[in-house]
Amino acid sequence: MASTGKIQSSASSLCDDNHSLIVEIRSTLNIIKDIAVDFETDNNKSQQVKELEGGVVELLEASSDCTLLSAAIQLYATHYQPKTEPTDFNKWFDEEIAKSKASSPSAPENNRLLRQFREAVWNVHHAGQPMPGDDQEDIVVTSTQCNILNVTCPLSGKPVTELAQPVRSMDCKHVYEKNVVMQYMRSARKCPVAGCPNRNLLSERVIQDQLLLLDIEELRVMSKQTARDDVIEDFTNIDDEETS
Ligand SMILES: [Zn+2]
Repeated sequence: MASTGKIQSSASSLCDDNHSLIVEIRSTLNIIKDIAVDFETDNNKSQQVKELEGGVVELLEASSDCTLLSAAIQLYATHYQPKTEPTDFNKWFDEEIAKSKASSPSAPENNRLLRQFREAVWNVHHAGQPMPGDDQEDIVVTSTQCNILNVTCPLSGKPVTELAQPVRSMDCKHVYEKNVVMQYMRSARKCPVAGCPNRNLLSERVIQDQLLLLDIEELRVMSKQTARDDVIEDFTNIDDEETS
């Protein structure tokens, strides 16, 4: 019991470190984007812009490695069982990370962030015109899109920005209120977001990944900036205790 607690607290402090690194990378990306826009504005210094784009790609890879490592650490902590032999952590994490990479080779949030960078540069001289190569992209991404796929929890109806304990599916990336989705998963496996193809919701794969709070924070900032009207406030009180 004591060792389980120890594992869990070191896991969460490792994840915190990773999280600060990811936050750092995210803010660096914003700075790079601003610099690239300046270069582009300043008479098409396209070579410099290209180099910065290379930097963005590298940072995004580093950031997704951090995210995968955090997920692996959390998975380990959740399933930790005291054993007689010591765990080979490097091997274990490498294997977990390789597994996650195999299941989704390119992180969708990376595509979005890279796209945001390219779009910011493109808009300097071509605002309002479609970016070249748009029709070849598998996923259509718009500039307003953020990393949170659903703005309200499909089960509680609460805006994602107001969830007490948000969690996200590692598979379909939808976000839910933790206690509500945990209860839901006792009797159902299908993701409750309408039209979502994920039919195998697993409690160990519905977690508060380290990027989630950051993504929610970005959604909050974005909603404030654009005063988006698609964030619907829902004050319905859901009271599941009918009898006491
Ligand atoms: Zn889903």
